[in-house]
Amino acid sequence: MRREYITKSPEETRELGRQMAEAAKPGDVIALTGDLGVGKTVFTKGIAEGLEITEPVSSPTFTILQEYESGRMPLYHFDVYRIGDPEEMDEVGFDDFVYGQGLCLIEWAELIQEIMPEHYTQITIEKDLSQGFDFRRIIVEEI
Ligand code: ADP
Ligand code: MG
Repeated sequence: MRREYITKSPEETRELGRQMAEAAKPGDVIALTGDLGVGKTVFTKGIAEGLEITEPVSSPTFTILQEYESGRMPLYHFDVYRIGDPEEMDEVGFDDFVYGQGLCLIEWAELIQEIMPEHYTQITIEKDLSQGFDFRRIIVEEI
C-alpha cells in the first residue's frame, strides 16, 4: 500500500506525524528517509506529540538512539547514519527495541537494510522546489 500526502508548512507536516502516531501500535517500526532540512525532525516532533510525549524532541545527531518514555508508549528514535556496519547495531540492542513494545523511528534505515524487520512503514519526505519552498511530498509505504 502506498499513500501520498502534500504539506505546505511545517505545521502540516507535524500534524501528519501526530495523526500517524495516534494510530500507532506498540511494536510498530517506521523508517524515515529524506535529505537534510526536508522535515524529518518536524515530522518526528509530530509523532512525539501524537504519543503524548512531554520531553523535548531533538535530532539524535550524536547518539544512535534517543529514548522517550513519557508518552502512551515509548518512542525509540534511531539515527543510524554513523553506523559503519549493521553488526554495530547489536551493541545498542537494536532487536530488543525493534521487536519491543514501543514505536521505533529509524532515520537512515536504508543503511541497515539487512537487519530491518520484515514489515515496517517507510516514510519518505521530498522537496519539490518548483512547487514552492515549503512544499513537501510525504510518501507512506507499507513494506
Ligand atoms: P531534517 O530533520 O530532515 O534535517 P528539519 O525537520 O530539522 O529537517 O527541518 C525542516 C525545515 O524545513 C524547518 O526549518 C521547517 O521549518 C522547514 N519547512 C518548510 N516547509 C516545511 C514543510 N512543509 N514540512 C516540514 N518542514 C518544513
Ligand atoms: Mg533532523
